[in-house]
Amino acid sequence: MANSPAGRPPPGAIDCDIHPAVPYTRALLPYLDDYWREHILRRGLERENLEPSSYPANAAINGRPDWHLPSGPPGSSLAAMQTHLLDRLQPKHAICNVIHGAQVMLSEDLSAALCRAINNWIRAEWLDRDPRLRASIVVPPHSADLAVEEIERLAPDHRFVQVLLLSMAELPLGRRQNWPIYKAAAAHGLPIGIHAGSSFRHPPSAGGWPSYYLEDYVSQSQGFQASVNSLVSEGVFVKFPDLKVVLIESGVTWLPASLWRLDKTWRGVRAEVPWLEEQPTETVRRHVRLTLQPFDAPPSEPQLRTLLEQLGSDRMLLFSSDYPHWHYDGDDALPSGLSTELIQRICVENPLETYSRLKETPQ
Ligand code: ZN
Repeated sequence: MANSPAGRPPPGAIDCDIHPAVPYTRALLPYLDDYWREHILRRGLERENLEPSSYPANAAINGRPDWHLPSGPPGSSLAAMQTHLLDRLQPKHAICNVIHGAQVMLSEDLSAALCRAINNWIRAEWLDRDPRLRASIVVPPHSADLAVEEIERLAPDHRFVQVLLLSMAELPLGRRQNWPIYKAAAAHGLPIGIHAGSSFRHPPSAGGWPSYYLEDYVSQSQGFQASVNSLVSEGVFVKFPDLKVVLIESGVTWLPASLWRLDKTWRGVRAEVPWLEEQPTETVRRHVRLTLQPFDAPPSEPQLRTLLEQLGSDRMLLFSSDYPHWHYDGDDALPSGLSTELIQRICVENPLETYSRLKETPQ
């Protein structure tokens, strides 16, 4: 394996996870219809920032020190993001994933209204102003009907390249009530992006609510494991053979061990899931992708090579910076120890194979 120094992605790279932040809820008012604008103003919701993250606002991981803004949350300025990221690392495209309380709301109607506003906002204020940008469609995750409506509304705009969900919702993501979302996404060639996060219907740990942010952050991988187990076991990939799922900001090292357990147990109890006709690992290698940052790489290069061998596929990892979150310094967006060939796969070929719309030039 030829080693490449840590550093910049190669030409043509696709950054598969950046986070434009809604600066404040008032910024969404022009993008709401009259009813929902009045609704939000009467309830005073515009005074809240509707930030769903369990990150404390000033946690170091929330924004790199040199990417902080004079005002507003990290990631809320297009001009700053262009300077910090697009003009420096020069990716061909970057995919905007807006993480917002819209996906947490208990009211499905309010959730749908805010998701529509966010999608209209990102289209007008980011996509229309920089042709390098693409975006995920933010949908109300607890109403498949309303989520499908939003997918259908935006699918004709091919700058939207993915449907965005959070890893922990009311029910495991593979459950049949979510299948209309997967059906619509697959019909339009849109992968399902599952970002770290929760709608806070359940604790992030199966053992109950943790006391500390430290526990919450580390427990996120449990949510991803549950999502993969559910999607595979319920037969989502059997029903929708063209569907791709991208685990975003999930880390990577937990996956081989989790799949080993899934394969082993499947062999013993496969009679209860007769639609699974191959080892779950094979299904996951075909359908599931993972973004790179934060890359929980083991400390030595031989250990990293072992991890990559355990993944068993060079097609699963996708380059991401996770801008503006703080996972690396300077321009070292790629971890060391990856071969030149693998870097090319991770940065260019794998994203293009995953997001077929990136091969097009939208009109
Ligand atoms: Zn992210």
